[in-house]
Amino acid sequence: MTGTRRAVRVAILGSGPAGLTAALYAARAELKPLVISGVPPGGQLLITTDVENFPGFPEGIQGPELVDRMRRQAQRFGAEFIDDTVVRVDFSHRPFVLETGSAGTVVADAVIVATGANARWLDLPSEVRLKGHGVSACATCDGFFFKGKELAVVGGGDSAMEEALFLTNFATHVTIVHRREQFRASPIMLERARTHPKVSFLLNSTVEEVLGGETVEGLRVKNVRTGETSVLKVGGLFVAIGHIPATEVFRGVLELDHEGYIKLHEETRTSVEGVFAAGDVHDRRYRQAVTAAGFGCRAAIDVERWLAEQEHPTTAALAATSPKAVSAGPRTAAR
Ligand code: NAP
Repeated sequence: MTGTRRAVRVAILGSGPAGLTAALYAARAELKPLVISGVPPGGQLLITTDVENFPGFPEGIQGPELVDRMRRQAQRFGAEFIDDTVVRVDFSHRPFVLETGSAGTVVADAVIVATGANARWLDLPSEVRLKGHGVSACATCDGFFFKGKELAVVGGGDSAMEEALFLTNFATHVTIVHRREQFRASPIMLERARTHPKVSFLLNSTVEEVLGGETVEGLRVKNVRTGETSVLKVGGLFVAIGHIPATEVFRGVLELDHEGYIKLHEETRTSVEGVFAAGDVHDRRYRQAVTAAGFGCRAAIDVERWLAEQEHPTTAALAATSPKAVSAGPRTAAR
């Protein structure tokens, strides 16, 4: 790490839709936000192909292009970016201290955490061994290398459907392996997968082992109802079983829930006053690009108001100390 030290009013950690929307709003509020984007910058949209449900794009838009547009929009109003990660934070006093991997230290009056979430893995030793050699969590990144192969995708959510459908561009066949019969995937995505001639389903099944020496040759799959195991011959495995919030650096610093998601207290406020959170890093329910963007907007507005409160005590704060001082205010007068 270099010795540079930079002071900003607002630091935004993460550059998915939550971070970039927060940057746009904070920039337009003239807070000159600094976005520490994470590496690679862009979040999960970077590995999403067609985004068909982000309002304003009737023909759909590619994830990386949407991220790029959001970033340029925030930059247009003065947001700055450091393409680096935060490796350590000190939120015990203000201004807050953020140490980056190689771009020095940033001190900030307020922080918006929008670090998102990362792919969840099956945690099989064979999966770890063959990662990058036929095991992947990103069809967009790696699908091209699997031309003419039979593939498997694990999972029953939208990601699994999306990965499977995308992989049909390269694979001869894609089997979706899912541990039960009900799906989290939206009906439209599920229907697309169900009606695709190259896609089939192996339900009530879990992957016990990824088979192969140098590269993936198959999967040992267990039927959870009968307990029987069988071998599914495939040349690649794509894991699409959800995500883990990127909160490692905040462990013991911010209040997290049992799965590591940031707990919000009041609107977008975290357990530390002056630190706010937005997007998948706290949201286990909606997890959409558009909801993440909405959370980013909310966090930036909350930061703006909170910073203003620090400099100019609010009517409410004054009221608490001197009731007469606010009696002429418009709200009080109206009552
Ligand atoms: P998800 O909806 O949480 O689905 C994860 C799936 O993986 C579930 O079916 C789950 O099974 C399964 N799973 C979890 N842990 C597993 C394990 N250890 N072994 C085997 N299976 C496991 O996650 P997601 O598909 O990544 O989607 C996340 C969010 O992003 C959703 O809101 C989704 O709508 C959105 N998204 C949207 C699009 C799109 O619209 N184009 C694309 C991708 C994602 P159980 O059901 O049994 O728990």
